[in-house]
Amino acid sequence: MSAKLKRLIADARAAVVFTGAGISTESNIPDFRSPGGLWSKYRPIEFGDFVASAEARREAWRRRFAMSEVLDHARPNRGHDAIAELVRQGKVTTVITQNIDGLHQRSGVPEDRVVELHGNTMYATCLDCRQRYELDEIRKRFERDGEPPICDHCNGHIKVATVSFGQAMPLVEMQRAEAATLAADLFIALGSSLVVYPAAAFPLIAKRHGAKLVIVNRERTELDAEADLVIHAEIGATLAGVVERSN
Ligand code: NAD
Ligand code: ZN
Repeated sequence: MSAKLKRLIADARAAVVFTGAGISTESNIPDFRSPGGLWSKYRPIEFGDFVASAEARREAWRRRFAMSEVLDHARPNRGHDAIAELVRQGKVTTVITQNIDGLHQRSGVPEDRVVELHGNTMYATCLDCRQRYELDEIRKRFERDGEPPICDHCNGHIKVATVSFGQAMPLVEMQRAEAATLAADLFIALGSSLVVYPAAAFPLIAKRHGAKLVIVNRERTELDAEADLVIHAEIGATLAGVVERSN
């Protein structure tokens, strides 16, 4: 299995890596499905409710800060590091991620090589003027006032920079992801159950345009039958065994 993955990577000129929550479980961030996981405890707050209700905004910020302990201490793991190495080597052109934890960037993948389909929860923006805010500052304000934060410039609502349920997929990111996928000769999906659309469409687009498809996931995924290689194993150990550091 690993030998085949190594060969596919060696043969590739423009690989794309696609990651889901599974790549970050080894950094102690639970995935969506894990029992009692951070994300499964609550019904998600829909974007429309966030905009309409101060109480929904308060609740969203309470939940976000309750997760800070986990998110702030999370460090990139062997899987993130191996991907960063493949980007450095010029093998991987683009890392498309469903994750919102920013760990690909922290592992050394340049910002312009990462496409965050669902945004990023490590900072916030004003929904109206897009002004960026750091969470430390927002947390201080929230704990002081008990009110959901509003923008200094335009009084708009401030929200973590994620794409919430009910919020449109980001156009530029979707276009970047599609362009990279169309140009890919190898598409490696890691740690995603590949059920969330439209994101899960990318492996199929790659395949239909001639790329080889590799899936690495602990358990079976929706697209296993489409793949040229399926590895049901841990991502960190799998990638660490395949990618050699060049320095
Ligand atoms: P998912 O939870 O539906 O699927 C994750 C998959 O990864 C599962 O099939 C699981 O078996 C597998 N997995 C977990 N740890 C693994 C490991 N170490 N090695 C191999 N496989 C492993 O996740 P999804 O499909 O990415 O969708 C969940 C959604 O929730 C995403 O859209 C994302 O935005 C969000 N989310 C993000 C984070 C994060 O940023 N770290 C965490 C949880 C959820
Ligand atoms: Zn604003």
